[in-house]
Amino acid sequence: MKWVNHKLVAGATGLALTHSIAFTSVAILFATIPDAVELHNYRTNTSIFKHRGNSHNPLVWLAFFTLAYAVLWFRFPAISASLYPVAHFININPDQDQLITDACWGALWGIVAHLATDAMTPGGIPVWKGKRWTLHWFYTGSQTEYAVAFAIAIASGLIIYISHQIIVL
Ligand SMILES: [Zn+2]
Repeated sequence: MKWVNHKLVAGATGLALTHSIAFTSVAILFATIPDAVELHNYRTNTSIFKHRGNSHNPLVWLAFFTLAYAVLWFRFPAISASLYPVAHFININPDQDQLITDACWGALWGIVAHLATDAMTPGGIPVWKGKRWTLHWFYTGSQTEYAVAFAIAIASGLIIYISHQIIVL
């Protein structure tokens, strides 16, 4: 999937899910990380790491986020599932606690959205021992890809709109 569509999907779904600007911004920022970490050289058209190799393996990312969480847990012994003590440690107010919590989960969402949408293309994503998972819905950069990304954004917009109506009522 093209970067613009990765960012569109991660941002729109993130906002619909959480209504959090912090969550959404970080999700958009992380939405292209699985491709970016391959360190592609556009001049020579080569990558340091194989395209859609371990950079796109959900198990690798699960391990990464578990490790990151574990490091936080040891560094900040009182850490809870909401990551509250991270905010507490640097002594900021409750609103900022929520901001940091949202930002941390937004990073995870950006990665999840990237892998999920790459899995919709024939190339798919690696899962286990060379096996790949693909839904074969559309080719990267095709009109269908743009249509799917746009449809997800519209659906997310509707969810945001409707939920705001409910909150107002
Ligand atoms: Zn990718």
